[in-house]
Amino acid sequence: MRLIALPEGTYTVGLDKVFIPFNPKTDSIKDRPASLLVEIQPFLLNTTHDIILCDTGLGYTDTLGELILHKNIKSHGIMPEQITKVLLSHLHFDHVGGTVVRENGTLKLAFPRATYYVQKKEFQKAMEAPSKSYRLEILDALLNSGQLEFLDGDGYINEDIHYEITGGHTEFHQAFTIKDDHDIFFFGGDVLPDLYQLIRKFVAKYDFDGKKSAELRIAFGERSINQNSTLLFYHSIKVPFCKIVKTEIGFRVRE
Ligand SMILES: [Zn+2]
Repeated sequence: MRLIALPEGTYTVGLDKVFIPFNPKTDSIKDRPASLLVEIQPFLLNTTHDIILCDTGLGYTDTLGELILHKNIKSHGIMPEQITKVLLSHLHFDHVGGTVVRENGTLKLAFPRATYYVQKKEFQKAMEAPSKSYRLEILDALLNSGQLEFLDGDGYINEDIHYEITGGHTEFHQAFTIKDDHDIFFFGGDVLPDLYQLIRKFVAKYDFDGKKSAELRIAFGERSINQNSTLLFYHSIKVPFCKIVKTEIGFRVRE
């Protein structure tokens, strides 16, 4: 199985939930108090049966109006039409921006042949309780596309792809395990967004249930060692994915 990280760039995000591009060469985090420094990084997995995307980024475009996500995918020799499944951990706009593309003022799905997988209750919550973190026009486009498939609880999409509700970050946030004969990959979305949150035992104020997320990170870390799986970190700047080992005080990257 082939795994490709598709970085959309580095940003700071504050309590206002606005993502501002951050250039490490010219910008300083000290100038942006109360902000979190994050990468935005969807993943592509090429399995025997599918070409899968894990979350879709902010959906930013270049100066010519092309989706950065499309450019990134094409740079690896894959066309957007070839994507068969889009797995969405949750519906915050920094994870679903690239599910859609704007053409002549209307939104259409960015991956015309893909099925998009969303937890049903995550979708319901997002529709019921609009917040700065959700974009209703994206949810509407997904709902009206005929390409949306709701998942309810835990289960398998096919023999390769397992989904499970984690809660933690949002009430019905989900994680995915994707495996073939050789490899196992774990995409923990915003419950396991960054290697350093696993190492430093971080409790995030922005989580629906930060304590649960922190406990889950440790459980997922342990599981990853037992399964010999690779962890995918959507918001990690330095290490997009890795395997880990246990230490006396927690975890570290497996060299
Ligand atoms: Zn989120």
